[in-house]
Amino acid sequence: MADKRDYYEVLGVDRNADDAALKRAYRQLAKKYHPDTNPGDAEAEAKFKEASEAYAVLSDAEKRRQYDQFGHAAFEGGGGGAGGFEFNFGDMGDIFDIFGDLFGGGSSRRRASNAPMKGANLRTAVRIKFEEAVFGYEKEIEVNIKDSCPKCNGTGAKPGTSPVTCSKCGGKGRVIYTQQSLFGMIRNEQACPDCSGTGKVIKEKCSDCYGTGYISTRKKINVAIPAGIDSGQSIRIKDKGEPGVNGGPRGDLLVEVIVERHPIFQRQEYNLYSTAPISFAQAALGGDVKITTIDGEVLFTIKPGTQTDTKIRLKGKGVPSLRNKNVRGDHYVTLVVDVPDKLTKEQKEALLEFDRLMGDTLGIGGDNADNEDSDNKDDKDDKPKKKKGLFGK
Ligand SMILES: [Zn+2]
Ligand SMILES: [Zn+2]
Repeated sequence: MADKRDYYEVLGVDRNADDAALKRAYRQLAKKYHPDTNPGDAEAEAKFKEASEAYAVLSDAEKRRQYDQFGHAAFEGGGGGAGGFEFNFGDMGDIFDIFGDLFGGGSSRRRASNAPMKGANLRTAVRIKFEEAVFGYEKEIEVNIKDSCPKCNGTGAKPGTSPVTCSKCGGKGRVIYTQQSLFGMIRNEQACPDCSGTGKVIKEKCSDCYGTGYISTRKKINVAIPAGIDSGQSIRIKDKGEPGVNGGPRGDLLVEVIVERHPIFQRQEYNLYSTAPISFAQAALGGDVKITTIDGEVLFTIKPGTQTDTKIRLKGKGVPSLRNKNVRGDHYVTLVVDVPDKLTKEQKEALLEFDRLMGDTLGIGGDNADNEDSDNKDDKDDKPKKKKGLFGK
């Protein structure tokens, strides 16, 4: 997906192009690369699909807005976009409308109903641990996969019988409705409801697949979860979707990843965030503190006089980038000075002695209450409250 071309570039229009300009550009490309005019030319077909996809997105105001904001990521189920948009050539009906009879009597239409078509994409979700998302993981999942029914060879008809031509559409797979509207008669072509667009109906159904032509089996699939994946992003597994129609390729399986929360780390893009407690002595005197990172414990040297809520950055201790796992985000740690809630008698005495040396912020007296020196330092202390709260009993 990374080498996907920019849609505007594909159509050769600038980013402000209006609908008419888009349509013009697409018409030109479509005419040039249409499979009907380039039979058997795979490159032309790829170009045609690329242009069709670009046009499908840019001609839809909502999709265009998402694309402008998030780029291709908008439709890959990640990157903060609305996600979920899957380009499917089965839905191309609307687009072919813009050709009109460009190819002589809508040959593209007739083609479309019998031409090989890629199967639909299947979606599933997998729940993984925070660390598995950070470092990547191979996960086995189970999905129901449809395969052509071996008993009827995928026809859906009882062995020895064959599907018959649909009488409603005469085998074309599509029916035309005409409708009166404000602008005159509108011709509306739709998939035939009797045969679901296949052009055939099954009189006697295959007993194994009940006429569907497919058998579903539960299969185990190994999913390689790339390091750096985030919740809501999907992994595409080629050819594990629904079988194609008329010999077309299978669709893809899209596995959405749901990442569990971590008790310590929060993630934002490729950076990690956490808080780490330090003792008052460490904060005041400085020294090495142990900090839990996703890679395990590391020692970080803090400066004497480190205040609570000091934020430090551990470079490269964040989440690997999906594109290149050697490039990692950072880990931001907020140091919080831990105030002990239980003190022994000795600890209490030591603290009282310490406070006396600091100028008696507690105001419980002592022979060395040296207030002049410490005024500026003690401003942040909440003298009256502490006096009652700690020792007021
Ligand atoms: Zn069957
Ligand atoms: Zn029909």
